[in-house]
Amino acid sequence: MIHINSPTKPWLSHTHTQTHTQRDAMGKSGGRGDFEWVYDDQPHTSRRKQILAKYPEIKSLMGPDPQLKWVVSGMVLTQLLACYLVRDLSWKWIFFWSYAFGGCINHSLTLAIHDISHNVAFGNKLAKWNRWFAMWANLPIGLPYSASFKKYHIDHHRYLGGDQLDVDIPTDFEGWFFCTPARKLVWLFLQPFFYALRPLVVNPKPVGQLEIQNAVVQIVVDSIIYYFWGLKPIVYLIAGSILCMGLHPISGHFIAEHYMFLKGHETYSYYGPLNLITFNVGYHMEHHDFPSIPGSKLPQVKEIASEFYDSLPQHSSWTRVLWDFVFDDSIGPYARIKREYKLSKQG
Ligand SMILES: [Zn+2]
Ligand SMILES: [Zn+2]
Repeated sequence: MIHINSPTKPWLSHTHTQTHTQRDAMGKSGGRGDFEWVYDDQPHTSRRKQILAKYPEIKSLMGPDPQLKWVVSGMVLTQLLACYLVRDLSWKWIFFWSYAFGGCINHSLTLAIHDISHNVAFGNKLAKWNRWFAMWANLPIGLPYSASFKKYHIDHHRYLGGDQLDVDIPTDFEGWFFCTPARKLVWLFLQPFFYALRPLVVNPKPVGQLEIQNAVVQIVVDSIIYYFWGLKPIVYLIAGSILCMGLHPISGHFIAEHYMFLKGHETYSYYGPLNLITFNVGYHMEHHDFPSIPGSKLPQVKEIASEFYDSLPQHSSWTRVLWDFVFDDSIGPYARIKREYKLSKQG
């Protein structure tokens, strides 16, 4: 827990108690002054037990999704074709197509990579195949990240909201600085950078073998594309990834999943139409309850155990989520439930 008084880092200069007072004093226009600290366990563990006790058939949904490899490969090949098609376009159209089309596929691929990180492409027995397949899915994104993502995503599930463990939670600096509508808009635009850099600041881990493989494969393929078709396809791929993970309707999922739109509620599902192109990442409550069930089968979880999910707070529009995030004073990077796990007290 951070109780440091540092004149050079004003965002670290509060204690939790002071913050609550500050927030009360600031009233309606003040926004949040700290994360929402809780002292109980994440809700998913106990609900998983309850649901499985009542509906043991849900276990049959766990395990690989045989379609995933074909869908993902189709997307990778589509982007390869797009690289060929855009090679001679003017820069204006490169950026247009990267935001309107390529980036949507790339953002969707990041959500396939999320699914694959739970071993649902080839199952737990072929764990390595999932790692290599994720590198294949990573190719159109232009920059290597699938191996690092997997390494950190386990912590997001195991230590949900964990201080210095769950790198999905913004840093104190982000919470402190991005507190007005204009700044929150900038923060949304820069989301891909925060997601990429935050792990290095919050919880740096040694670089593993898979990450090196991931980087080598990516650099080789980028170089081949550059050699045959020049710089424009590379810009098309990378700009698309960055732009569409920033200010874009699909990016609503980053905010919809765990930002505290309702006090005390930590995870939210979104049941709108964009699930169709995002491997059902909107079924986030169901996903945290059952991470080994592929996205394609999560709607069945909701259907079987409907009484557990129907009455929970949920989102129906990611665009609306983004709008509210920007303009609602009570929501911002600080609107996250945080807890300490014993692990983080060591060292
Ligand atoms: Zn999550
Ligand atoms: Zn997950």
